[in-house]
Order: sequence, then C-alpha cells, then structure tokens
Amino acid sequence: MGLLEGKVALITGAARGIGKSIAIKFASEGADIAFTDLVIDDIALQTKNELEDLGAKVVAVASNAADFNESHDAVTKILDSFGKIDILVNNAGITKDGLIMRMNETQWDAVLTVNLKSAFNFIHAVTPIMMRQRSGSIINISSIVGVHGNVGQANYSASKAGMIGLAKSVAQELGSRGIRANAVAPGFIITDMTAKMTPEMLSQWESKIPMRRGGTPEEVAKVCTFLASDLASYVTGQVILIDGGMGM
Ligand code: NAP
Repeated sequence: MGLLEGKVALITGAARGIGKSIAIKFASEGADIAFTDLVIDDIALQTKNELEDLGAKVVAVASNAADFNESHDAVTKILDSFGKIDILVNNAGITKDGLIMRMNETQWDAVLTVNLKSAFNFIHAVTPIMMRQRSGSIINISSIVGVHGNVGQANYSASKAGMIGLAKSVAQELGSRGIRANAVAPGFIITDMTAKMTPEMLSQWESKIPMRRGGTPEEVAKVCTFLASDLASYVTGQVILIDGGMGM
C-alpha cells in the first residue's frame, strides 16, 4: 500500500518542474491529485495524463495562484470533485532577479505576490476544510535562499523567507486541530528555472555544494512525500533543507 493511499493532494503550479514531480510521486504513492497552473495547456494536459496513467483521479484547474478570489474558486472546484483536501503544496513560483539598487517595484510585487501571497491565498482557502477534517498537511516550497539570502534575489529571498514564517505561524495556530505545516528549502535543483543560468553560474553553484551536483525534482518530491504522509505525523513547523549540504 502506498504512503498516501486514500489522500487528496492539491499542488499549485504543477504542470511542470518540481510541482509536477511532486504530483507524480504523490500519485505513485496512491494519492488523488488536484493541481493548478496559470493555464491548462498541452503541457498541463500531458501531466494530467501521466498522473491518470498512475491510477490517480486528477483534476486540473486553471488558476492564477497570486489572485485571492481565483485561488478560493479553485479550492471550491476541487472540493466539489473530491469532497476533501488532505494535503496542500504551495509550489507556484517565479523569479525576477536583479540587484536591489536596480530592482523595480514591478519585479518586487510580482515575485512577492506569486510566491508568498499565493501561499496565503491557498492556506486561507483550505484551512476551514482541514479544520473540519481535523487533519491536514501543508507544505510550502521555500528555498535555500529564503534561509541564507542571495545576491540579486532580494525579492525572491524575501518571498521564500516569508513562506517559512507563514508555515511556522500556521503550525502554531492550527496544530491543535491536527493540521501540520512545514516548509522545504530546496537548494540548486535542475529545472527550467535553473536552465536560464550560464555555465559559469552553474559551476559556481556546484562548487559550493558538498555533494558537488544539483538535485533533482524527484529528490524534492521524496521529502514532500514524507511530510505529506503519516510518517511525519509529529513533524510540524520545520524547514527541511534539500540541498546536498550547501546550507549547513
Ligand atoms: P518552474 O519549472 O518555473 O515551474 C513553476 C510552475 O509554477 C510552472 O508550472 C508555472 O506555470 C507555475 N506558475 C507560475 N506562476 C504561477 C501563478 N501565478 N499561478 C499558478 N501557477 C504559476 O519552477 P520550478 O523550478 O519547478 O520551481 C517550483 C518551486 O520550487 C518554485 O516555488 C521555486 O521557487 C521553488 N524552488 C526551485 C528551485 C530550483 O532550483 N529550481 C530551488 C528552490 C526552490 P507556467 O508554466 O504557466 O509558467
């Protein structure tokens, strides 16, 4: 029997990248999957098919995670389809890098809204459901730079640090209701987001990693599966670094 048998998981921004890997791993552990993305295009439909091939019931909803009302509407649709939501993974994220002196308000607002406000939007929408169920696991996909900061990523680092504070606060507010909230902080993970980097930037990152390689989305998904499952039934308010030792 899979670790997530009988559970319903909602993952934001999961058409591709790390979110998709989390959805695939959760489905392979027996969960039914609801995922959102900005648009349900061919890439998202391909993800939906792959999840269904694993035996999961799947609902894909077009929703801008940065929009409060759209996020609540998405959760209502998902609840109508599944009748419950056991796991929420706040994964949708973007970068708009630049040194602080050159960063404009648009870059700041976009990253804070898509990465951090989105997590508030979905947590706000699912917590009444999880409170009725008296159980739930919330996982915020933060980042190593949310713990340590990074040159050129003041907006992104602030949004990811915010996701950690958010998870810890929710863990304290809702622990007595059986709801756990944790954050994971991936380090350098090979995805489309990192594909924008030059070879020089890549080797600079790798030299800082004790394991001397980037991680895979599947390696992030495995830790999320642990946090989502009953294996982590007494784990809340934590930040787990998935970074090959980079942040120790
Ligand atoms: P990615 O490949 O760019 O995937 C991000 C996903 O989020 C895409 O499917 C994207 O949709 C979706 N998305 C963007 N804005 C959205 C919005 N407003 N509403 C709904 N969905 C939206 O990135 P990734 O590398 O998989 O990253 C996933 C998460 O992990 C992010 O939160 C990121 O910050 C975090 N993370 C990544 C790394 C890394 O090294 N890659 C390290 C630490 C943390 P579209 O396809 O429509 O753009």
